[in-house]
Amino acid sequence: MAIDFGKRMGLGGLRLPVLDPHNPMSIDMDTFKKVVDIYMEHGFKYFDTAYIYHGELSESAMAEAVVDRYPRDSFFLSTKMPIKQMSKAEDLERIFDEQLKKCHVDYFDFYLIHCISKDTYAKCEEWGAFEFLKQKRAEGKFREFGVSFHDSPEFLEKVLTEHPEIDFVMAQINYIDWVNPSIRSKDVYDICVKHGKPIVVMEACKGGTLAEIPDEAKKLMKDYNADASIASWAYRFVGSLPGVRVVLAGMPKMEFLMDNISVFEDFKPLNDAEYQIIDQVVQIINANTPIPCTVCRYCEPACPKKIAIPDYFTLYNDLKRLEKSSAPNDVMTQAFFYGSLIEQGHGPASACIECRKCEKICPQSLPITRYLREMVVEEIEHYDPLKQIESMKHAGE
Ligand code: SF4
Ligand code: SF4
Repeated sequence: MAIDFGKRMGLGGLRLPVLDPHNPMSIDMDTFKKVVDIYMEHGFKYFDTAYIYHGELSESAMAEAVVDRYPRDSFFLSTKMPIKQMSKAEDLERIFDEQLKKCHVDYFDFYLIHCISKDTYAKCEEWGAFEFLKQKRAEGKFREFGVSFHDSPEFLEKVLTEHPEIDFVMAQINYIDWVNPSIRSKDVYDICVKHGKPIVVMEACKGGTLAEIPDEAKKLMKDYNADASIASWAYRFVGSLPGVRVVLAGMPKMEFLMDNISVFEDFKPLNDAEYQIIDQVVQIINANTPIPCTVCRYCEPACPKKIAIPDYFTLYNDLKRLEKSSAPNDVMTQAFFYGSLIEQGHGPASACIECRKCEKICPQSLPITRYLREMVVEEIEHYDPLKQIESMKHAGE
């Protein structure tokens, strides 16, 4: 029987509300439950999580906020096999069972192989992961089998050709990556369509970065529609694509939820004039964003020097953007942010030993070591944040 997805916004479990923005394990359950309640009240029902999100706490949070509080047939639950973090075939059964227990369910609606790439694909083939999951699907342990995908379109073509049993694809699609040569969202999208696979979109707002675009680009959007939020353009871009089943949205804050609800409750596809504005916005953003990091934080645990890679990249991009923005120049705030990360025990950008463990993990294939080198030479460490903090303390005396 065809599944009725209803309103097409999914609640993403990668970015739940937290009490401490630098500690993903500090999930703010009270706020998250309120988010879930409002989301459900408005008729949405798709929850996406994964074994590894929020330091392996996202699934338990979904159990507490959703599964324990709503009838099982009133929502869809989707989670993912952490194949990258697994070391042997026996882990398939063990982790699958653990996930059912953690989520307090006896079946999932959707189950994905997390972050399928050349490395993880080789493991899947060697361990019989596709056979294992086909069997689980046949046993009714989940309804549909998906893959979440961050590799090249050519590789997706290979995976979907060799494994037609895959029911759907979760892919990173947004207007800034649509023709970005390192992501190639459009090519990925075209292959999904060609194979007839429904798409679950992740990173529609590119980790929130498409809500904070240069003033020049904001002005274009606001001049056209003063009431629409900047983020809403990003969600409408992906929601307008035929074949997109659900668009995932992180809801770390209540205001994001309300804005996203307003977009998807009565969804309006983009018109020609809006597409033209987005084309112009892409050009402006590309000219203003030196590092296209999505802040997924996959790289952080791999770093032996505890370098806060995505935070430094965000900071760097913010500093670059501030140079061209009319927003209050909060360089000192940035310096505080950097200094507080160092005080928490993170290595500075200059601590990088170029082991490239982070680069092997980065789904965006970013040249992290090169960026860190550039940050050291060009900007960040020239702020000498600890000195900045000292001078701010004295200024406040
Ligand atoms: S290359 Fe640098 S940033 Fe990356 S994991 Fe190694 S030390 Fe950390
Ligand atoms: S550098 Fe790559 S892995 Fe690290 S947070 Fe950014 S996009 Fe994710």
